[in-house]
Amino acid sequence: MNEYYFNSLTLAWTLFAIALIPIQIKVTAPYGRHMRSNWGLSIGNRLGWTIMEVVSLLVFSFFFLRGEGIKSTGSWILFSLWAAHYVHRSLIFPWRTRTRGKMIPLFIVFSAVFFNSINGFLNGFYLGELQNVPIDPGHPRFIAGLLIFVFGAALNLYSDTILLHLRKPGETGYKIPQNSLFRFVSCPNLLGEIIEWTGFALMAWNPAALSFAVWTAANLIPRALSHHRWYKEQFPEYPKERRAVIPYIL
Ligand code: NDP
Repeated sequence: MNEYYFNSLTLAWTLFAIALIPIQIKVTAPYGRHMRSNWGLSIGNRLGWTIMEVVSLLVFSFFFLRGEGIKSTGSWILFSLWAAHYVHRSLIFPWRTRTRGKMIPLFIVFSAVFFNSINGFLNGFYLGELQNVPIDPGHPRFIAGLLIFVFGAALNLYSDTILLHLRKPGETGYKIPQNSLFRFVSCPNLLGEIIEWTGFALMAWNPAALSFAVWTAANLIPRALSHHRWYKEQFPEYPKERRAVIPYIL
């Protein structure tokens, strides 16, 4: 596929993410606290997460490694960050959750496999095949992006860890998280993920990475709004000043 077709496809895919925002705001994907039993067949939550997320790792790696573009140090750093994120997200994170016995609809798993395949393909193919100039890891934009990526990943990981420890072994209910950035927003983990992929887009500086950053925000901001609404409905004592995802703003 030449760069013109690739960029057109990426643009269409990005516009699709934006078009889906109103639907995502109206219909919250039914997993975790929003799980509903009327979405057809379901499988175990942890297995579902592993299947959905390992696709990003495999598809990205396949297209990156077999591509014949220029693989400079900067490209290998980007590959390593993507791989590290998705090894954690698919093989470690699901099995750290205290969600034994919880289910996830197969529809959600298949939808995520589809979206993750396209995003993995676009990013792996661009970096592996279409990248025709070396990516300079000493460039100020690359360094700034890396710092943003690391900050976002740390925030995501730290906030997820706080959430996972709210439950004692065997518990599956919900509590109000209190520490750290949870004092300001309901979903610092989702904010961290958005920051992380914004940093990645700055480092990679290509349409595929920008598209993925847009997809992540388009996906996670509506989800954070739903989580926030859910907390306020479930807990009358929920802190009034807390926002959904962006401190003081949203
Ligand atoms: P949540 O914040 O809904 O849940 C994270 C984990 O913590 C789950 O195991 C959840 O259990 C548990 N949990 C959450 N809140 C509470 C609470 N108040 N009390 C007790 N336990 C709680 O995040 P998601 O499940 O939506 O996402 C998980 C990770 O995946 C996040 O890091 C997110 O950034 C990432 N992600 C990335 C996407 C992307 O587009 N790049 C898309 C979706 C997720 P339970 O499952 O039972 O609710």
